[in-house]
Amino acid sequence: MSDVLLEFDNVSVRYAGAIAALHGVSLKVHKGEIVALLGANGAGKTTLLKAASNLLPAERGQITGGHILFRGRDVTGSSPHDHIRKGLVPVLEGRRLFRSLTIEENLITGAVGRGLRRAAIADGLEQVYTLFPRLRDRRLSVAGLTSGGEQQMAAIGRGLMARPDLFVLDEPSMGLAPLVVAEIFDALTRLNTETGLTILVAEQNSSVALRHAHHATVIENGRSTLSGRASDLAARDDIKASYLGGH
Ligand code: ATP
Repeated sequence: MSDVLLEFDNVSVRYAGAIAALHGVSLKVHKGEIVALLGANGAGKTTLLKAASNLLPAERGQITGGHILFRGRDVTGSSPHDHIRKGLVPVLEGRRLFRSLTIEENLITGAVGRGLRRAAIADGLEQVYTLFPRLRDRRLSVAGLTSGGEQQMAAIGRGLMARPDLFVLDEPSMGLAPLVVAEIFDALTRLNTETGLTILVAEQNSSVALRHAHHATVIENGRSTLSGRASDLAARDDIKASYLGGH
């Protein structure tokens, strides 16, 4: 059996107003890998992640060509809820927590899509608090009053509560201090090595992403222009000059 968990096969996307955002992108994410999507602002990284979890219609966007396969089955156009039930869990749109709920209440909302029972929810919370001890301390705090780093950890924790096989993550480093970014990527790496969680992560902070990923793909103007092992890309001077500046 193939070990490809997620595949984009020649995927094109358009937004209302005929703005073409992706032009025939192909990409494979193998089971157990961390794959980084690199590229400048507006290159199409978020669009690709939204296509994977079918969150485009809410943005008046649509897949106009190609297919998305999850575990070898065509999931192009199936509902976000369906994706979550199958184990493809998005952590997108910055943090989007329920600001007036506590951290723990937010985490529990992540289990709802999976219809988990009380014992499974308790296990999930324990896993999240072990991964991010800060969240245990802050579990009764109102999410809107916690720090950006804690909110990002809670967003990841909420995703974990859905028992993902594949995490689709958008810019987990956004707006966070370097130490917090390191803490978050270390946690992602731990999840990957300890639980086998597969991760597709878009990042503008390419140096951090390449340090933690196995493979990476560069997106430029809606096209995938380069793919390879993260260590090979990190060693290339032209990649450093184009994508690693400033971090
Ligand atoms: P960023 O890091 O800024 O999120 P990105 O690489 O994720 O950049 P996208 O957000 O996917 O890029 O944007 C790709 C292109 O699609 C851009 O030209 C953007 O202006 C356009 N776009 C994104 N969302 C919409 C939308 N809802 N409606 C119209 N155009 C959009």
